[in-house]
Amino acid sequence: MKITMAHGSGGKSSAELMKTVFGTYFHNEILEKMEDAAVLDISGRIAFSTDSFVVTPVVFRGGDIGKLAVCGTVNDLLMMGARPLYLTSAYILEEGLESDLLETCVASMADTAAKAGVKIVAGDTKVVEGSGGLMINTTGIGLIPEGRDISAANLREGDAVLVSGCLGDHHACVLSHRMGLENDIQSDCAPLNDIVDALFENGVRVRAMRDITRGGLGTMLNELANTSRRGIEIEEERLPVRDEVRGFCGILGLDPLYMGNEGKMLAVVDGADAEKALAAMKGTEHGKDAVILGTVTAGGGVVMKTRLGGRRVVDMLYGEGLPRIC
Ligand code: MG
Repeated sequence: MKITMAHGSGGKSSAELMKTVFGTYFHNEILEKMEDAAVLDISGRIAFSTDSFVVTPVVFRGGDIGKLAVCGTVNDLLMMGARPLYLTSAYILEEGLESDLLETCVASMADTAAKAGVKIVAGDTKVVEGSGGLMINTTGIGLIPEGRDISAANLREGDAVLVSGCLGDHHACVLSHRMGLENDIQSDCAPLNDIVDALFENGVRVRAMRDITRGGLGTMLNELANTSRRGIEIEEERLPVRDEVRGFCGILGLDPLYMGNEGKMLAVVDGADAEKALAAMKGTEHGKDAVILGTVTAGGGVVMKTRLGGRRVVDMLYGEGLPRIC
């Protein structure tokens, strides 16, 4: 079946779509009350974030837009030290969308939300004219446990900078699909609860965290350095990149430093906790390829010690990394 304007009319077809697609996969006591708004009982410091997802293709190796829409928002909450609790999901469907494709994405959204420990408590669906596309917005709320103060402003000289795994996987995967290239590069799209929980459970003094999305590691490091007015020095030799992604980047002239991921993060921790943080990350499913990448220095900017012993300034990504990957 194809989605038509009638599915967004608020009438019988809309009700049918709600029941057969969304109702099949999204259940919880809050949503099932079917009120005009979700009522949430939360007290404490809240992290609150929103993101819209417009990636094409909507299904790719290792995930789809439904999974991505949960991971993107959940990971942003996690990066502030929050425990993700609730999500909203707003779907914009283009006329002509195959309902099976929609169902695939809704099912994987529900599955990923369960894995990330969040409840989808409010939602909306609109149908617009178009050519069978699908876009999703998610907004999330998380609770920051008492005593956690996670911010780029916290960086100190001597802190260690860790990265949780290989760079560029999601970007290279989506780009491969778009270019019709045959390879086995998989998106790393994943909720990072396991890594963040492991850091705090092991008593690591975490200063700041960032998920390495659009703009890539180079951009995230610059954001941290600029906000904290510190410098960051990393070692090229330690940059984790899969051989296949490195080869792909080599052919297209892309730099893995600026390639986006959807399941990788940076953590800046007290220098004395570097090994503890590394062990904690490596003990998780999503952090097994973690490395200590460098240190925070007194000066500004980001510098990379190259394999040949030189030093290169790592700047932010300028312009838009193409195509849109999230
Ligand atoms: Mg982020």
